Amino acid sequence: MSRIDFKNVCKRYAPQSPLTINNANLTIENGEFCVFVGPSGCGKSTLLRMVAGLEDISSGDLSIGGERVNDLPPARRGVAMVFQSYALYPHMTVRDNMGFGLKVFGSNAAEIDKKVREAAEILQLTHLLDRLPKELSGGQRQRVAIGRAIVKEPRVFLFDEPLSNLDAALRVQTRLEIAKLHHEIGTASMIYVTHDQVEAMTLADKIVLLRVGDEVQTKGSIAQIGTPMDLYHRPNSLFVAEFIGSPKMNILPATFQSADQGRAHITVAGHAFEVAVQADHLAANQPVSMGLRPEHMRLADADNSPNSLPARVTHIEKLGEASLLYLDLGAATPTITLKLEGTTTQKTGDAIRLQVNAQDLHLFDSAGEALTRTVSLPT
Ligand code: ADP
Ligand code: MG
Repeated sequence: MSRIDFKNVCKRYAPQSPLTINNANLTIENGEFCVFVGPSGCGKSTLLRMVAGLEDISSGDLSIGGERVNDLPPARRGVAMVFQSYALYPHMTVRDNMGFGLKVFGSNAAEIDKKVREAAEILQLTHLLDRLPKELSGGQRQRVAIGRAIVKEPRVFLFDEPLSNLDAALRVQTRLEIAKLHHEIGTASMIYVTHDQVEAMTLADKIVLLRVGDEVQTKGSIAQIGTPMDLYHRPNSLFVAEFIGSPKMNILPATFQSADQGRAHITVAGHAFEVAVQADHLAANQPVSMGLRPEHMRLADADNSPNSLPARVTHIEKLGEASLLYLDLGAATPTITLKLEGTTTQKTGDAIRLQVNAQDLHLFDSAGEALTRTVSLPT
């Protein structure tokens, strides 16, 4: 049993200091891959280290496999942690690094050898077992650190930004290896900490998005829990909407006009827009925010098409497979980003007209809470 439950978990590093974790409530199921993501300093490592037993819990209950573990020492929790810094012993071979924990634990040599060879097989480290860490690349060292966790046969794997020290290509490759590993070790739960929303989107069964700073005190540490598609298509707030997705969602100040049949009618800089959300409870003339993702806009054909507005191109970035156009919408409106497939023929200074579908738009009330979308969305 590797289910993990957080019940009203709070963390304060010192009696007079503010809450680092406020009221975390969360369940990670048996065999689930859960990613803690959020900006630097939001408490991801703190939350992970509480599961490992490396950090005290100020209040609330944490249980693993139905057993309360608040006061259980790290060695008895059945967890294994992989750190960003690898933390390998420099004078030991790969084989000895991987087996060291078992040796300390008192396992016999034959058993250690078997488990090390099995883990090396999974991680394609067999040919490197007699090397020292200094004779390995960064990616290989990180695999050894993962191997050291595997041989312990933990019920929970904990990863704290394990790919941050690798270059971009190796990050993608190791990310795939971790996803495969999760598939192969189906019964263990995994908690993976990252500040990178792409890692979160690609690895997670369940994403826990944490927020930082003053907001935590009033709103709690967890901004939203859901599948990657939940967070992308159904962000519950402006914070989540802007954190998930790259380039990030454009947010424009708008005024609510009226609602009917699962549609909100709003104006943005004097232009009428229709958004597929439930907005019956809003009052006319209330300020709202409209959210539109860069990849959900296109160039309009006619000057008066609905859900469109004029813009001027201020800067272009060509990526080859896509082009990013930075657009000025006129006074008192922030610059927005448009993502077009392929290589655009637009030029800086061009006047264009943007168009977007009602079902692709997001709407947020003046408190930054998302209104419920009324279209069927991917899961
Ligand atoms: P993240 O991993 O999301 O970047 P951390 O969990 O490391 O964030 O830190 C969350 C907050 O707690 C930060 O403000 C950090 O300064 C503070 N913090 C972390 N560790 C300690 C500690 N040992 N003592 C006091 N404050 C700490
Ligand atoms: Mg951290």
